[in-house]
Amino acid sequence: MLSDFSFDEMKEYARKLGLPAFRGEQIFNAIYSAKSLDEITNLPKALKDIIAQDYPNYKILKKFESKDGTQKFIIEFGDGNIVESVLMKYKYGYTVCLSTQVGCRMGCKFCASTLNGLARNLSSGEILGQLLLINRDKGGSEKNRQITNIVLMGSGEPLDNFDNVCKFIDLISSSRGLNISQRNISLSTCGLVDKIDLLAQKNYNISLTISLHATLDEKRAEVMPIANRYKISEIIDACRRYYDKTKRRIYFEYTLITGVNDSDDDAQRLSKLLKGLNAHVNIIPLNVVKERNLKGTSRLFAYQFADLLKSHGVSATVRRTMGEDIGGACGQLRNQVLKNK
Ligand code: SAH
Repeated sequence: MLSDFSFDEMKEYARKLGLPAFRGEQIFNAIYSAKSLDEITNLPKALKDIIAQDYPNYKILKKFESKDGTQKFIIEFGDGNIVESVLMKYKYGYTVCLSTQVGCRMGCKFCASTLNGLARNLSSGEILGQLLLINRDKGGSEKNRQITNIVLMGSGEPLDNFDNVCKFIDLISSSRGLNISQRNISLSTCGLVDKIDLLAQKNYNISLTISLHATLDEKRAEVMPIANRYKISEIIDACRRYYDKTKRRIYFEYTLITGVNDSDDDAQRLSKLLKGLNAHVNIIPLNVVKERNLKGTSRLFAYQFADLLKSHGVSATVRRTMGEDIGGACGQLRNQVLKNK
């Protein structure tokens, strides 16, 4: 698909079709403005016919708006697969939460995205497409970017789709793209150790976020099957290597689940694990996924847990929950449009 191409690759594509380079630039600009082929006015019909089969045909199928202003977009790809993407408004601008896979195969017990397993990976251009469509929806275009921050925290495990996610980071942070600073991009992973090492080699300026959610391997395995593959200590070691290479602070996500990871001992163990690492912990109150019967703690408890971490010298905050009423909060994205919604 043409949205997989960088600016230079697009010019090369045009050249191979025997076209002048400016045609490549026109196609590139149209894609970054999220125009459909029909809306492009500066390309001859014959050329549009030629590129039609490669031109992106993703679209916004539906939008939901939360009382808190958060918006959820259902985005459909050419093959009928859909993903959800979320737009959050902060003081400094818009943050978009993008999906990297249709579904997910990690099987975390608290997360809706994995309920139906993995359908397929998204290409770099499909990850990008979510952002381009939402940018346009907010009145933006290729020259007028409305989105400031990106979090790769939608459905899917980004490091399970490593090459396409890296290509996406290259595309979006390119000066011939929307030019979003890598510092404004967060990638969240359940902790695929070998891929964390590969990512470190890329030396991106992005923020790496680890979904830890437990301090003991047995407890982690109760809710995250990936814990049977990688030990917590191996993940933390990989984070240390990542930090040594990139000098980027590491973020940890810790969703409080009653009776699984919420004891005082957990807070103490967590602070020990993170000792000496430039780390910050985001406490996420559990969002309800109706198919699962895990219980979350109260917000008040989350603040107390964060205070406990702070008293052990760990930087910690409680994440604001956004978009819960539209199924747009952490762990609520799914690869299925719910009936009657
Ligand atoms: N697969 C990646 C990306 C998902 S990011 C990862 O595991 O990091 C979404 C974040 O929300 C992760 O930290 C995830 O663990 C967390 N999450 C998932 N389900 C949740 C739920 N029901 N309530 C709160 N947080 C949840």
